[in-house]
Amino acid sequence: MLTALGADAVPVRRERELDRIAGLVIPGGESTVMDKLSRAFGLREPLRARIAAGMPVYGTCAGLIMLSDRVLDALPDQQTLGGLDVTVRRNAFGNQTDSFETDLDVALFDGPPVHAAFIRAPVVEEVGPAAEAISVLDDGRVVAVRQGTLLGTSFHPEITGETRFHEYFLTLL
Ligand code: GLN
Repeated sequence: MLTALGADAVPVRRERELDRIAGLVIPGGESTVMDKLSRAFGLREPLRARIAAGMPVYGTCAGLIMLSDRVLDALPDQQTLGGLDVTVRRNAFGNQTDSFETDLDVALFDGPPVHAAFIRAPVVEEVGPAAEAISVLDDGRVVAVRQGTLLGTSFHPEITGETRFHEYFLTLL
């Protein structure tokens, strides 16, 4: 998605690779594994420092969990990188078979609604004073937030061909 939008996108797995980047997308996947690997490979503290220094970061799904200051239904020793003043609940909609797609209005965008895929997705249960909800489900649950140069969505816009979140992220660089 980033390459298609004209960005120079590179994978980041090692600390030295952080020197090359102006912003970071933390994708979907499994936040417990991301947490363990980021600690095992010495990425956790450098990433926290870059986030604190204002690097733009966009977290989707597990990436949103990694960016959240507080997480519910985490594994006992699970840590996040933090940055977003929110509380998320992991797997808030159930397991893999409870995954779904829906249309969402997003406060940042004009035009048609966002068609969003939720895959074992988290939900934002509490939005602290520093963060802002930018999209909610019909039942009022928050599924997209931003705070300064940080952006987080419970869902995967890239899976459904939605480009606007990544375009917006690139404007933050
Ligand atoms: N359930 C996963 C987690 O807790 C997130 C799933 C996803 O990123 N699609 O990290």
